[in-house]
Amino acid sequence: MAETFEETAIVLRSVPYEERHRVVTALTEKHGKISALARNAIQSRRFGGTLEPFAAATWRMGETRGDLYHLDEATIRKDFAGLRKDFEILSLASVFNELMLRLAPEREPCVDLFKLHSNALAELEEKADAGRALEPRILLALLNAYLSKVLQWNGTQPQLLRCLGCERSLLDFPADARLRCHISVACWTCPDCRGVKPDSATDYAPGFQHQFFEATQAAIGDFYIGLSTPIRKVPELAQGSLEDQKLLFALMESLLIYQVPGFDRAPLKGLRFLPEITGTFGNAT
Ligand SMILES: [Zn+2]
Repeated sequence: MAETFEETAIVLRSVPYEERHRVVTALTEKHGKISALARNAIQSRRFGGTLEPFAAATWRMGETRGDLYHLDEATIRKDFAGLRKDFEILSLASVFNELMLRLAPEREPCVDLFKLHSNALAELEEKADAGRALEPRILLALLNAYLSKVLQWNGTQPQLLRCLGCERSLLDFPADARLRCHISVACWTCPDCRGVKPDSATDYAPGFQHQFFEATQAAIGDFYIGLSTPIRKVPELAQGSLEDQKLLFALMESLLIYQVPGFDRAPLKGLRFLPEITGTFGNAT
């Protein structure tokens, strides 16, 4: 009999397997993204609501042959059912799940991603419980902050406080100043330094469309806030307008595609349900 172990898992996806079982993919701290077979999960009530998407539960599981653990028991810690009170919030939470399905390492520790994901879900649930719809600007600010922290986890260290050319501070420019962001090194140049290119400019990936990207000072400022503050502070601190957030989202997509292995151009499915926040960017580039 294989040994078992316990760990808290947040369900990312749950699919039926054969007639009676489920295969559940979840995010954990110590084992990253894992998939487990929950036998007889469909008819019996032994797993309760623990296998629903977003549910956080303590799983007792063991190794099995192949890629799946077998799930013996699951005890609910937090069901995040409040997310279902608001369609936009639920859609954004689904986008977060999709990102972890795409990016989280399999069977490797990812403490930072786990904390980010659970804090992001907690923040969304709190807002849904409060019964106040989130403005599109704030929904997108949360998505951008989440993406900025994924970049940071990946080891990308954006240099956002100073112009690459003249080293003037971000704060020296008005909110609507157009700054040129260089995707390969995640830094920016001001309007006076248009000719300055990062040293690694020759390393632009062949065929990569956005060697640089124009964004407003407000968008870069919110990028900095996303990187440097807990995600739960973002709704009160984000400054940029919806248009700024859209620019920042397009910049984030370019940075992630360029910087993070495994992040491809396939659009995030959950964004279909949030047309007002992605607008023209809802179609993949
Ligand atoms: Zn400059």
